[in-house]
Amino acid sequence: MDSSVSANTKKCPHCGQWSGWNLHYEDRCTHCGELLDPQAYRSAARRAEEERKDEKAPKVFIQIHPNDGTFTRAWKYVVLSGQVLFAAIISFFVWLGVVLAG
Ligand SMILES: [Zn+2]
Repeated sequence: MDSSVSANTKKCPHCGQWSGWNLHYEDRCTHCGELLDPQAYRSAARRAEEERKDEKAPKVFIQIHPNDGTFTRAWKYVVLSGQVLFAAIISFFVWLGVVLAG
């Protein structure tokens, strides 16, 4: 066995050469410079993109997460239906105002 070979190596999906790999999604092949794990890179990029979108999304309505407990989900649904009802009443009055004004 060649002891100089690092424990973390990955076969490059682009050129087929074994390249040193730090188990990081951004690591590139030392032979051709392509990503060693393009799939992991894409999912990491997508995750970062979703996080950016989440920050931009207006937090008008309460967020219900699938990993919330039953109790947490239950009261969130109560709050959410209250919010939806409130929004419905507001838009009803807006609609009424438009109808009466016209
Ligand atoms: Zn390569």
